[in-house]
Amino acid sequence: MEQYPKTLMEFESQFKSEGDCIDYLVQMRWPQGFVCPVCESRKAWRTDRRLFHCAACGHQVSVTAGTIFQGTRKPLQMWFRAMWWVTSQKNGASAKGLQQSLGLGSYQTAWAWLHKLRRAMVRPGRDQLSRLVEVDET
Ligand SMILES: [Zn+2]
Repeated sequence: MEQYPKTLMEFESQFKSEGDCIDYLVQMRWPQGFVCPVCESRKAWRTDRRLFHCAACGHQVSVTAGTIFQGTRKPLQMWFRAMWWVTSQKNGASAKGLQQSLGLGSYQTAWAWLHKLRRAMVRPGRDQLSRLVEVDET
């Protein structure tokens, strides 16, 4: 499994495109390769980068389904940057700071993102990102 970067330099080089972020989510979700949640087939094709289509039963799975990124219209790159920023604020992250850091148009969006990220990062320490992409089965 890929490591989450430790420095800003590593972060920048690991997630330099939207595809890098998607690949990371795919890796986290299916470290041994795609497995269909319905029929457990391992064969799938991708109808677009974010979407897997099971070759056996036709079930479609988005790599962001069940994660905090589900349904987002913003690029994953932006979310990844937000996570990086929030986790690197030693004295606590503010919505205003997040808004400025990402260049988000509205304070409300920044506030909503910050709360989503905080909820997802209740478990301190390592694996913060892996927790974000854990699928909530409930
Ligand atoms: Zn299937």
